[in-house]
Formats: sequence, C-alpha cells, structure tokens
Amino acid sequence: MAPRVAAIVLAAGRGVRSGGRIPKQYRLLDGEPMVRRSLRLFLGHGGISVVQPVIAAGDEALFETAAADLAVAAPVMGGATRQASVFAGLQALVPLAPDLVLVHDSARPFATTELVDRAIAAGSAHAAAIPAVAVTDTIKSVDAGGRVVTTPDRATLRAVQTPQAFRYSMLIEAHRRAAAAGRDDFTDDAALVEWAGKSVMTFPGDPQNVKLTTAEDFARAQAAQGDMRTGMGFDVHAFGDGDHVMLGGIAIAHSRGLTGHSDADVVLHALVDAILGVLADGDIGSHFPPSDPQWRGASSDRFLAFAVQRVAARGGRITHLDVTIVCEAPKIGPHRDAIRRRIAAIADLAPDRVAVKATTSEGLGFTGRGEGIAAFAQATIRLP
Ligand code: MG
Repeated sequence: MAPRVAAIVLAAGRGVRSGGRIPKQYRLLDGEPMVRRSLRLFLGHGGISVVQPVIAAGDEALFETAAADLAVAAPVMGGATRQASVFAGLQALVPLAPDLVLVHDSARPFATTELVDRAIAAGSAHAAAIPAVAVTDTIKSVDAGGRVVTTPDRATLRAVQTPQAFRYSMLIEAHRRAAAAGRDDFTDDAALVEWAGKSVMTFPGDPQNVKLTTAEDFARAQAAQGDMRTGMGFDVHAFGDGDHVMLGGIAIAHSRGLTGHSDADVVLHALVDAILGVLADGDIGSHFPPSDPQWRGASSDRFLAFAVQRVAARGGRITHLDVTIVCEAPKIGPHRDAIRRRIAAIADLAPDRVAVKATTSEGLGFTGRGEGIAAFAQATIRLP
C-alpha cells in the first residue's frame, strides 16, 4: 500500500533581506507569490495526501491571498525558530498520523515533481532522507577571526536542500525530545534527527532547487525565467442552422449552430491565434487553410493541440490563457467550468491557468443582434 504522505510547507520566516517590505515568501516571483509555487507543487503531486502550511502570526491575510483557491490545510502559526515552526506543523498533523512527512522551505520555489518523487522514494526506504548536491566550491572551516582552520575534503561534502523526508512518528518524537532538552537551534530537521541519534540518508537533490534569500537571488531568479510574451487572438463565426454550438471544445445545446469550415469553435480559434501570436508564427488560417478540404468539419481541439505543440517545440511554457466570449445567447455561465477544464486538458495546463469570461454586447452590433459569436483571447507564454 502506498504510504500516506504529508508535506509541511514552511513560510513562517520574517526575512526581508530579499529587499521588499513584505516577507520574501509572499514576494512575487514570475507573477505569483513565492510560497504558492511550493503549495502548488505538493497539491499537484498525486502521492501527497495533505499540504500543511506553517506561517507567521500576522501574515494571515498575505497567506490567504497567496493560497487563494488552493486546497491546502488551514495554516498553523509558526514559532520563534525554524525548529519551532516545523514542530507546530508536525503537531497539526497528529490527527492524520501520516506515514511520511516531507518538510520544505518555501524559499526554494524551484523544487520539481521529480525531486518530490525522489524524496518519497528515499523517505520510504530510510527513516530520514535529505536531498543533497555535491559542492563545487572548496569549503573552508574558519575561526572567529576568519583564519582558516581546516579544509575538509570536498569529495565528502554535500550541500543539502529541502524537501527532506522523514518517517512521521520518528520526526515528531525527535522534535519532542529536542524541545524537552531545551534545544531550539537546529537549522534543519536532519540536524535534529542526527542529534537524536538516528541515521540520515542522502538522495540526489537538484542544482536548480536553490534557496532565494537576498535581493540578488530574486533578481537572478527573475532573469532566469526567460522571455515572457503575450499574444492576442480574435475570432467570429456566424449563426446558421443547427442545434448546438462548439465553444472551447464543449458542445452547448442551442437553437442555432455556428457556420464555418471546421466546427466553428470561436473560442479555440481565438486561443490558437493568441498562441501563434506569441510565437510570431502566422495565424490559424496560414496553418489550416479554409480552402483545404481536410479541415471541413474538423474538431478544433486539434488546432489548439497543434499550437501548444509549436510552443513546446520552441522550449516554451504556457503560463496563462484568457478568453472572453461575446454573445447574447447561449448563456455561457453554466458551461464556464466545463470549458475551462476542456481547454486546460487540450493545452495540458492546470485549470487555474485558464480563464473563461463571457459578456453580452448589450444588444449592440452583430453579436447584439444575435448574428454570431465573437471571442477574444490572450496567451501568456514563457520562451527560453
Ligand atoms: Mg474561426
């Protein structure tokens, strides 16, 4: 049976060394609060049962904004030290009694699903397992005056990261013992477990999984995000005979259909042009000419899949898709979530990266007269 795994996301630090006025875990990185990236990582991992955030008292509103519409556990308040904050997270998990717990610093926003996979595997095989990478700099041990005392053999040194994986019952017991012994100075959970006399195993970390601490770290991370671009698309199809319209890959029953060479899905067509716009790669008509009989009646999801594939071929990543549908009828509201999920599925995106909005044109113009449906789309894409 798969182990029950909980993830504690630490966001209780007060550090403002990153330069902003708000704690660094709430600073925007690539347009989203840094802590949200870690929350999304664990929520999106099928092996994790619960994500337990630990925040600083007073940051409730910041956290609520950062975690909006994410299915995380209610945050618990951290303590004065990192160790106390982890302990608070562990105590909040007592009712769940997970087999494994992963402890992750929200200051490491670049952890990947693969790293979480390795953490769960290593944590299942060993009571304590931590991600580690070889050090490339020579490390010196110095005295208080800065004089070199020794030069440890670099081959035996590792820089350790998070998420660190532990058998839950072992870690909470080690924390209880440390608290009882008056120790509150452990800077990571592995050090506390070592103090408790348990062995700690390493597994391969990820050199990209860096910790962002200073303003320079943030500037470097932002620069590494690549070339953010937006593209726009627009499409119109006229009403004709029929009993349904295709919008965003969903068939919606209606007294009329939309006419066009393919299935006349204005939403998907506008999205395709928005994506091609980012790539400066022509438009939907240049890739799928209406004069070509093979596209007659074609399902438009293949056009969107094609555009998404063009992004992948360029090494890009779609960050966000946004559509506005303009029509008097049919009503879009009841179908909005189905359309979002369908677009997200075709484009291989999380649904929270797809927005679908609808408006009438107040009876004005061709949409107002009920002659057709229009759609506007915007794509935000990161290219290398
Ligand atoms: Mg069209």
